[in-house]
Amino acid sequence: MITGATLIGSRDLSTTATFRAVDPSRGIEMEPAFSDAGPAEVDIATRLAAEAFPIYRATVPEQRAAFLDLIALKVEDVGDALIERATQETGLPTARLEGERSRTTSQLRLFANWVRAGGADEPRLDSPLPQRTPLPRADLRQRHIGIGPVAVFGASNFPLAFSVAGGDTASALAAGCPVIVKGHPAHPGTSELVGRAVRDAVAASGLPEGVFSLLTGRSNELGGALVADPRISAVGFTGSRAGGLALMKIATARPVPIPVYAEMSSINPVFLLPGALRARAEALAAGFVASLTLGAGQFCTNPGLVIALAGEDVDRFIAAAGARVSGASAATMLTPGIAGAYAKGISALEASPGVTEVARGGEGGPNGCRPSLFVADADLFMTAPVLAHEVFGASSLVIRCADEDEMRAVAHALEGQLTATLHLEPSDHDLAASLLPVLEDKAGRILANGWPTGVEVCHAMVHGGPFPATSDPRSTSVGTLAIRRFLRPVCYQDLPEDLLPPAVRTRNPLHLPRLVDGAVDLPTEPRS
Ligand code: NAP
Repeated sequence: MITGATLIGSRDLSTTATFRAVDPSRGIEMEPAFSDAGPAEVDIATRLAAEAFPIYRATVPEQRAAFLDLIALKVEDVGDALIERATQETGLPTARLEGERSRTTSQLRLFANWVRAGGADEPRLDSPLPQRTPLPRADLRQRHIGIGPVAVFGASNFPLAFSVAGGDTASALAAGCPVIVKGHPAHPGTSELVGRAVRDAVAASGLPEGVFSLLTGRSNELGGALVADPRISAVGFTGSRAGGLALMKIATARPVPIPVYAEMSSINPVFLLPGALRARAEALAAGFVASLTLGAGQFCTNPGLVIALAGEDVDRFIAAAGARVSGASAATMLTPGIAGAYAKGISALEASPGVTEVARGGEGGPNGCRPSLFVADADLFMTAPVLAHEVFGASSLVIRCADEDEMRAVAHALEGQLTATLHLEPSDHDLAASLLPVLEDKAGRILANGWPTGVEVCHAMVHGGPFPATSDPRSTSVGTLAIRRFLRPVCYQDLPEDLLPPAVRTRNPLHLPRLVDGAVDLPTEPRS
């Protein structure tokens, strides 16, 4: 049931100030009114989280894994009501949201299995060398522990998979950290339904109430107070560059600065190499426009930049892509604010001298996104920074390069990206090999002959990259490696066996895989 309360531990709190969700496809406000939490609510939630932390982080892997599995089950138990509300609040189609729900629950289960297998503890043991000369070596054992309570900012464009029980929350809980979610004000009802599911799982698992809270609100003051609170140890954020930078500023100005893992903006360059373009310009155009217009282009991996050599092959691509963009209809964007920002970004491109509009899609409802395609030459791209700004939505810019050197120069000129894509044939491998080292420096994920939208949740995924794609290029916000963001290593030197945590005891009572004297040591007994 959706009440509009903010969920702090096991309590439902209401504030005098309220706000409402907007149905973006109709442009009207929805019931009920939601509490507009502020610093007072932050104070209660962070106090409860701090109290819960020592108890929650002492849970053994199997307990945390069972808790994550239970959250997945409770989210599924919400049933159709969740999809119906999310559809109304976001304008996203039902099938997309059903897919996103299953991504959310399978992510929780993947993380549960990873925790169960010792992936969060990552124990390492170095045996003592008492006879070593000139100095003996002590007995050294390392494991990872949760960093402390984590603030999570739900993303507008993934109301389930990057929101209340999404990737950041799953990572932090897997790491043994209590979580306080600042719900995105664009989907407060969806957030409450999922928040109640997580809260039920906390109670049913016998965990302290402060392990999870959901703060509803739409003021910067709320998010700012959360990040500034001394009991918060780290932040997970997905959204705008301005929002991420504002939170990083608050985090670094604290008496005790904390890490902010912000995923912000990326235009995901796609390089169409000459052999591929010659062989299949029209097929590339079809794949490109499908990726560009998916979800009204509201993906951080949307292909916002296409780079190719000038000539008749790229002209074929532009003509075919333009025809498809012209035939595409407008899709509802997530919020009036996002639709407004898209319109502003398109106007900036239209007003840029040297940028030519190739095509615009059809007009749509109140917050419709008309797909857009532009073209410009590489020398202009490298001197006009506005052309490299993310336009969040279904807009892309084709850059024509005079030759391969100019293509490499464009690659060098790029900011940090989540992804970089190469479309290639065997005849393109030399050019691709010369681009690869540059792209490795620029992007978290490099694809060949695919499209960047669609991010697999698995062990090898990197959904990260150098600034401004993220605030910390050493991390990922998707996949099991995301858990590391909220862990820190502790080394135990010469501690008596009975004082050591179970993960690093000699007998290996948790049956975890461990690195012992530099070699992988797999448990011989099954995990209980
Ligand atoms: P946003 O404006 O960055 O907001 C995301 C969250 O951060 C919201 O909960 C917001 O809360 C909070 N926030 C933002 N600025 C803050 C500040 N200065 N202090 C404290 N909290 C702050 O993102 P959005 O609402 O999802 O969309 C706006 C734009 O972000 C889009 O047009 C797009 O350009 C970009 N975006 C990018 C991605 C991506 O994946 N790269 C995804 C989504 C959006 P309140 O506003 O309620 O205070």
